Amino acid sequence: MAKSYIVGNWKMNQNRHELNEFFGHLEKEELNPGNFWIAPQFIHIQTCIEKTNKVPLKIGAQNCSDQTSGAFTGEISPSSLADIEAHFVILGHSERRALFNESNELINSKVKAVMGNKLVPILCVGETLEQRESNETMNVVLDQVTKGLQGVKLGAEDDIIIAYEPVWAIGTGKTASPEQAEEVHAGIREKLKELYPECGENISILYGGSVKPNNIDDLIKQPNINGGLVGGASLKAEDFMALCRAIN
Ligand code: PEP
Repeated sequence: MAKSYIVGNWKMNQNRHELNEFFGHLEKEELNPGNFWIAPQFIHIQTCIEKTNKVPLKIGAQNCSDQTSGAFTGEISPSSLADIEAHFVILGHSERRALFNESNELINSKVKAVMGNKLVPILCVGETLEQRESNETMNVVLDQVTKGLQGVKLGAEDDIIIAYEPVWAIGTGKTASPEQAEEVHAGIREKLKELYPECGENISILYGGSVKPNNIDDLIKQPNINGGLVGGASLKAEDFMALCRAIN
């Protein structure tokens, strides 16, 4: 069965003071270890990992290079993330695709590099408003899944997560209705079963796009929605905890 997660994407937010407050608040809470993940800015990953001795979160990155090492000024390698014991990397977020021109081919190369370093990739896919309005949602999303996973083999030890994030719902306050989201998640599930007949049923598919404490329950009631990838609502400890409780 697919596991459930809440993954917080802090984007370019949270300074040291704010993250100390966040973790301080969570120390008082009971959290199931393993299901709750946070991706801070690169510079805070190590600090957050050190805090996991008191708060059982998994810490990861919002992006990384597809290269292992060498002359790539300004890049962060998946091997260096593995070295500091990061757990996962978000790849292909719509902001990376739109603002940094990341192609499906580059994202695929990153997925392989991340898995080669025993980190868990969270592959993000999603359509723009224009694509939804011209009935291209399913084609666009399944194309991103297929190309993002091109040549990716999954062994018994390998873990991978897909996040469906309609671009028009990210940071806009407009959530896809649970039915709209489930329709796409069900399509992704079929594609995963076709690509990976042995384990496609067990790959977690998260929904992202204005997930909040007041809409999480209806979203996760859907059979193929296995939790959320959350931006804004993951910045406040109270909201993040409310989302975690819904999954717990
Ligand atoms: C995101 O950035 O992945 C996201 C879903 O953001 P928000 O929850 O703020 O819409």
